[in-house]
Amino acid sequence: MTTTDKIKQAGLKVTPQRRVVYEVMTELGHAQMEEILSAVQAKVCNITPSTVYRILDSFCKANLLAMICHPETGKCCYDITAHEHHHLCVGNKIVDFDDSELSAMIRRYLKEKHVVESDEEIAKIQVQIITDKKTTK
Ligand SMILES: [Zn+2]
Repeated sequence: MTTTDKIKQAGLKVTPQRRVVYEVMTELGHAQMEEILSAVQAKVCNITPSTVYRILDSFCKANLLAMICHPETGKCCYDITAHEHHHLCVGNKIVDFDDSELSAMIRRYLKEKHVVESDEEIAKIQVQIITDKKTTK
């Protein structure tokens, strides 16, 4: 699916600036505002930070992007993968860990434990796995 189709399908108007922001996010995967801004400004020289921010915000609201915060650094980044998935946090890096089996297992487990009220459903499960280098003694 092309960038234009993706933006259209999300119910947003396709503008050249939106296309550039989406394409930059496709290249970056997970990225903080500053990274996105410099990559976008390298392609569109007169775009302002507030415009980029507004576009990112509209993408999040349209479920075209997601937002995640790094559990250790607390820094938030935009995520090109908007569907339910998990993350491996390796140092400052965040890597997608797409495993629907894990999500299904957690849903089953929480249902068995009656964690969720009967009139509620689990909308999203997002596991963050933080890894560390093994220290050898
Ligand atoms: Zn992700």
